[in-house]
Amino acid sequence: MARIAFIGLGNMGSGMAANLAKAGHEVRAFDLSEAALAKAEANGCARAASAEEAVKDAEAVVTMLPAGKHVRDVYEASVIGKAPAGAILLDCSTIDVDTAREEIGKAEEAGYAMVDAPVSGGIAAAEGGTLTFMVGGTDEAFERARPILEQMGKAVIHAGGGGAGQAAKICNNMLLGASMVATCETFVLAQKLGLDPQTFFDISSKASGQCWSMTTYCPLPGVGPSTPADRDYEGGFAAALMLKDLRLAMEAARNADSYTPMGSAAEELYTRFAESLGGGGKDFSGIIKMIDDSWEAPASAD
Ligand code: NAD
Repeated sequence: MARIAFIGLGNMGSGMAANLAKAGHEVRAFDLSEAALAKAEANGCARAASAEEAVKDAEAVVTMLPAGKHVRDVYEASVIGKAPAGAILLDCSTIDVDTAREEIGKAEEAGYAMVDAPVSGGIAAAEGGTLTFMVGGTDEAFERARPILEQMGKAVIHAGGGGAGQAAKICNNMLLGASMVATCETFVLAQKLGLDPQTFFDISSKASGQCWSMTTYCPLPGVGPSTPADRDYEGGFAAALMLKDLRLAMEAARNADSYTPMGSAAEELYTRFAESLGGGGKDFSGIIKMIDDSWEAPASAD
């Protein structure tokens, strides 16, 4: 069992830190929020007074922070040069590829092994220990990070060198955002052409238009498996977080000089839904309401 510093105990970090404590690790937790710290303590973690105190004797440091600037601040002020030289550093936040590469470079220069390990899966997966981790870093850093990540997730995949985890995460979510919008507009058109949504689902889910956004996460209530659509788009993956990931994808595309017309359209549509129309707290499939505001939910099938 290891001494693990955990910094960032919000919606996701709270459950992840609790799972490490449950697995028997000595988890020393820090967050700027008093409420988050109190919850971590109740979940079996020890409270640290600062990030520096949390990392002082740590064998591993895990961070789960909002964005690149928080990761840069925490690593440069409180982790690099403050954690013991042999510690393995794991940043699980979703951030821009460039900041991830820069921080891994700085950590390596200072003699640390570090990975970027963003996650797929929401709050329930963080609590249930069923996240998927996409990991960037050297083979050696990946092998050291793997056993810790396995205690918080169901799948741990080595995506490539430093920053590759973030690249995989934003590419996946760009595809997801674009395919969700395409699924929504397709169902709206199908209905306007007189097709019954369930009948169209039965056909398209077995035909070449099949995709995850349709068969696993159908944006129509009462069609396909149970999804946030059946709960008025509450829970699930917030449109605001989808927008965050699409913006990161567009920033990466600009930096890599890559043409992404569908990703760019998805970013524009999610900006309108999440910000102009106030749908940021709704599940991202709720964008179907914006695509057809004359659409009426079919009676849900019992
Ligand atoms: P959150 O805002 O709930 O939690 C972030 C925590 O970091 C907060 O408790 C905040 O107080 C703390 N924090 C900020 N700056 C800090 C600092 N300098 N020192 C210590 N603590 C600090 O966010 P979240 O929903 O837990 O998401 C965390 C990361 O995971 C984000 O990068 C997000 O994009 C990603 N993510 C979230 C979800 C989700 O469903 N919520 C899913 C996948 C990935």
